[in-house]
Amino acid sequence: MLLFKQLEFLEGVFGRFVPRAANPPPPLQCHPTTGRDATLEAQAREMLRAVGAPSVARSVRVEWSSRLRTAAGRADYRHNLVTLNPLLRTHGADEIDRTLRHELAHLLAHARKGRRRIAPHGPEWRQACCDLGIADEQRCHSLPFPRQTRARPFLYRCPRCGREFPRVRKIRRRVACLACCRRYYHGQFDKRFTLQLVAAPQPSTLSRVQR
Ligand SMILES: [Zn+2]
Ligand SMILES: [Zn+2]
Repeated sequence: MLLFKQLEFLEGVFGRFVPRAANPPPPLQCHPTTGRDATLEAQAREMLRAVGAPSVARSVRVEWSSRLRTAAGRADYRHNLVTLNPLLRTHGADEIDRTLRHELAHLLAHARKGRRRIAPHGPEWRQACCDLGIADEQRCHSLPFPRQTRARPFLYRCPRCGREFPRVRKIRRRVACLACCRRYYHGQFDKRFTLQLVAAPQPSTLSRVQR
């Protein structure tokens, strides 16, 4: 079992990360309980049909959700669901459109590769971005949002290369350094590169951090 979550793979869900925006967003034009946006959904269907993905086009859903905090959008390929952060609306229609295409590219890349695992922002995703008209898309945004400041009090270190991995929460599974697994073990999980916990918060702060 490959456990490379810490670097680039969150099973089933990919995110386009943005720090928090300062201004409150304008009111949403979406379904009051589900957050579904019929207009964006229709656009998504049209784009997916145009690139030859009719089955994803049929089942895709696009929703707004304020549960997204630091991500501009998220793509859940298991449910062909794109979730957008309402804070995006303070940055204009172009940014919404770009984020929608970025997340659709995740769904498209996955649909094309079937059950094979792919890197979230690897060549398949890049190709999908080209097809969806955002060939120059970066894996991370460049919006002028303030930086995320949430504390990451758990510090892990790779015993081989020394790279550090600050984390908000304790890692519950065995996780190895992807860079070293790639370099020394053909990208397969190697327990020699299991991340070691080198710093943790005092017990008094644990409940606050791990809620
Ligand atoms: Zn992404
Ligand atoms: Zn390493």
